[in-house]
Amino acid sequence: MSLRDEILAANERYAADFDKGDLPTPPARRFAVVTCMDARLDPAKFLGLAEGDAHVIRNAGGVVSDDALRSLIISHWLLGTEEAIVIAHSGCGMLTFTNEELRARLAAETGADASGIDFLPFSDLEESVRSSVQRIRESPFLPDSFSASGFVYDVRTGRLREVA
Ligand code: ZN
Repeated sequence: MSLRDEILAANERYAADFDKGDLPTPPARRFAVVTCMDARLDPAKFLGLAEGDAHVIRNAGGVVSDDALRSLIISHWLLGTEEAIVIAHSGCGMLTFTNEELRARLAAETGADASGIDFLPFSDLEESVRSSVQRIRESPFLPDSFSASGFVYDVRTGRLREVA
């Protein structure tokens, strides 16, 4: 079965007893999550989220990048969230390379120059979480009342640990 057929079959099963077609756009639980795209993380499951509960913003590393901040600003001002939770995780791929290494590989594989792209890798998980939380707290586009906290998810146990 092709990927296309697989996802359409899975969606057919999901839609067969779907009963959440009338949810409002603003997240019911008024918070946003920023986390990594890692396939081992299922934030809806490990945070107990149902459809309509929260915004989940994902990227490589769960970093509060310019684009994640863009989403958070929209999340707060247009859709009423009051809090953000940043979740990095053990075994993150972003710990395994540097900008220089990836740029060199891209130059070799594609011939294209990626020197202008910051891929936002990091060498310390907790430090990455702290700086992302800090970025939210210091954003001039989010009010002081918008709170932010950080966690590390352990891919071996499924547990969250708060980052002080
Ligand atoms: Zn990751």
